[in-house]
Amino acid sequence: HNHIEQATPEKVAHALAVQAYEPAEVNWQPLAAYQSEGGYQLLAACRAGHQTVEELMAMMEQAGLRGLGGAGFPTFKKWQFVRAEAAPRYCVINADEGEPGTFKDRYYLERHPHRFLEGALISSWAIEASALYIYLRDEYPGVNKLLRAAIAELEEAAIIDPGYIVLRRGAGAYICGEESALIESLEGKPGKPRHRPPFVAQKGLFDRPTLVNNVETVYWIPLIHAKGAEWFASQGRHGRKGLRSFSVSGRVNKPGVHLAPAGITLNELIDEYCGGLPEGQQLLGYLPGGASGGILPASKADIPLDFDTLQAEGCFIGSAAVMVLSDQDNLQQVAKNLMAFFRDESCGQCTPCRVGTEKMLDLLTEQEWDVLQLQRLSQVMMDASICGLGQAAPNPVLGLLKDFRAELSAANIIVKG
Ligand code: SF4
Repeated sequence: HNHIEQATPEKVAHALAVQAYEPAEVNWQPLAAYQSEGGYQLLAACRAGHQTVEELMAMMEQAGLRGLGGAGFPTFKKWQFVRAEAAPRYCVINADEGEPGTFKDRYYLERHPHRFLEGALISSWAIEASALYIYLRDEYPGVNKLLRAAIAELEEAAIIDPGYIVLRRGAGAYICGEESALIESLEGKPGKPRHRPPFVAQKGLFDRPTLVNNVETVYWIPLIHAKGAEWFASQGRHGRKGLRSFSVSGRVNKPGVHLAPAGITLNELIDEYCGGLPEGQQLLGYLPGGASGGILPASKADIPLDFDTLQAEGCFIGSAAVMVLSDQDNLQQVAKNLMAFFRDESCGQCTPCRVGTEKMLDLLTEQEWDVLQLQRLSQVMMDASICGLGQAAPNPVLGLLKDFRAELSAANIIVKG
């Protein structure tokens, strides 16, 4: 009781949130149950030579499996690049899921840790990695506990050598989801992105060739093998291939992780999976790819949501974190909120991002928006920032200036220029 009285409301809220993640409440599938469904048979077949890397790469290519952390790079090509480099090599799983609005990796880790671990071990096998590192977001303490338990099950069953999988906690920095910053952090240094080249496939963890895969990407490997590449590829819509795990939040009746065809449009996603918008609200716009992926107006809610299609609009799908805005939302608040996030999370290593995000936030706080200033600053940030954070930070602002002039003026923002 005393403890609660002395705690601040923020501390209490945080403690309650952490409690809510306790794995006791999460019904995760243990090793025996996963094995009874054929789990770890693919890994055994790979190790016994019944399944070659080339066959598996061809299968992933046919399925159209791409990196689901944000960049969308074809998985089989990543394997090829790292395999071409000399051993020793490392495999790293990016479980730092920090993009605002993204929670799909947590969803799968909390339910099927062994399917994820089998996929991760197959990736590791594919590049003959000396060790497999998992870099886990520290805000997922429940996942940490259950992953430790699942890894212990694997060690006890002699499916892996003790210590082969190394589970590391992040420390709450968004930038550590950027693969080279993640590697710096794994090495025990401050999480600051590296200049490229060299790419991490050539010189990554401890300067060795490193494969970095997202949680969901490897999660799909055993499933694609079990159900067939054609099955996965045929799931898309509007000419796209595969499935996407959309993390939907904002003004919808049923937010959450929705597994839907790649290429589905926002209107279809809202109607078919999210139970529509709350009664009486009108769609104002949406962020198709978290904070970094830009913003689109309601009039562009019929564009297929996938890696390539959004590019023409200056947006990207990233980790498929869809945030829905309605006429109840204040666009200036949205813009300021996103920019404040980038300012807070900038690692501070380069000036265009460190100073640019601060300056941009000042400009957005004005009731009169100076278009020329905002555009010039955006250009400098996009051209001269070292990593994706600074390069993508202006995306929402540019989207608002391009497509939301009438809505901004209705919100009493004077757009000059
Ligand atoms: Fe750091 Fe921002 Fe520069 Fe990236 S762009 S290296 S986050 S200062």
